[in-house]
Amino acid sequence: MAPHDAIGAIAEEAISWRRQIHQHPELLFDLPKTSALVAEKLKEFGCDEVATGIAKSGVVAVIKGRRGDGRTIGLRADMDALPMSEQTNLPHASKVENMMHACGHDGHTAMLLGAAKHLSATRDFAGTVVLVFQPAEEGGAGARVMIEEGLLERFGIDEVFGMHNEPGLDVGSFAIRPGAIMAAGDRFVVTLRGRGGHAASPHLTPDPVVAGAHLVTALQSIASRYTDPFDPVVVSVTYFNAGRPNALNVIPAAIEIGGTIRTVEAKTRKAVGARFRDIVTTTAKLFETEAEIDWRPGYPVTVNNPQMTVAAISAASSIAGEKKVDGNWPCTMGSEDFSYMLEKRQGAFIWIGNGDSADLHHPAYDFNDGAIVHGIRYWTELVSQRLNG
Ligand SMILES: [Zn+2]
Ligand SMILES: [Zn+2]
Repeated sequence: MAPHDAIGAIAEEAISWRRQIHQHPELLFDLPKTSALVAEKLKEFGCDEVATGIAKSGVVAVIKGRRGDGRTIGLRADMDALPMSEQTNLPHASKVENMMHACGHDGHTAMLLGAAKHLSATRDFAGTVVLVFQPAEEGGAGARVMIEEGLLERFGIDEVFGMHNEPGLDVGSFAIRPGAIMAAGDRFVVTLRGRGGHAASPHLTPDPVVAGAHLVTALQSIASRYTDPFDPVVVSVTYFNAGRPNALNVIPAAIEIGGTIRTVEAKTRKAVGARFRDIVTTTAKLFETEAEIDWRPGYPVTVNNPQMTVAAISAASSIAGEKKVDGNWPCTMGSEDFSYMLEKRQGAFIWIGNGDSADLHHPAYDFNDGAIVHGIRYWTELVSQRLNG
């Protein structure tokens, strides 16, 4: 049987694994059913090593090539779902209330399992493939926890690749860009404190409401006046809590303001964070209030290494044809915890077409099973090109 036919047959099986995972979504680090299924399949395929319990429910498999020594390449899939209710009415829809695979991580897991089956059977490469199945991409930084537990050193990973489905991109197509492909997303809550007092005597008490109003306006100057217009920055104040509607003659003692800041360059992220602190503390001081900043760092910028991006484009082009690979896809303001892996090792993150589906995180979203064969082919082609001895 020709290799592509073999992968076609594996893809049929992978669709059934994907639907099984889809029916039993699990959240964050708590993935007992999903990780058990993944580990069982990997053992059945005859991988050289299957390690479980990394970052609680992460699973890692090792496959050695039969053509001798070489580099070690890490391929990563995420396994977790989202806390939302599915509205697809599909036969394989979620059986769990308020849990749903609305980001397609079920598909990512199935595609990497399919690649594991093929690679384990053929082993036509020099070096080692490490398959990383991670928990908690959706808000839990599962990738970071796996790294903290020694993932990269324990398995000697030299370079690492990730893949995510993209609604709106044709099935069988791929998209990528060198450099930043996804943003960093940080969040903040600022408390401004005065003393509180009678609204008829504003000269006797600092007013945190006026300070807060100025602060919301002043923060808009970060993206409009402080950063390069060609370097995307978003500053959104999404929360303002002050006073009470039944106490209109009271100047409150404190108010709260919160929001999110998105950046796509690491140095801009740092500079914007520092500017944010300056604006908050000086505005607070201007109005004789005191500021307390609760800064909640999100995932870093996802940065593709230029050479590894060329490698990813080469693998995708060989299986899909050059016309179906966009190497200059725009960066999005969403974020991804694969960014932590790309901070430690060279690698690249690629989008795979999910066709004309509902958007990610939408209740009507479903991973497109037609993409599975392309995803498995991408992974196996990437391995044969990177580990060609
Ligand atoms: Zn998501
Ligand atoms: Zn996702």
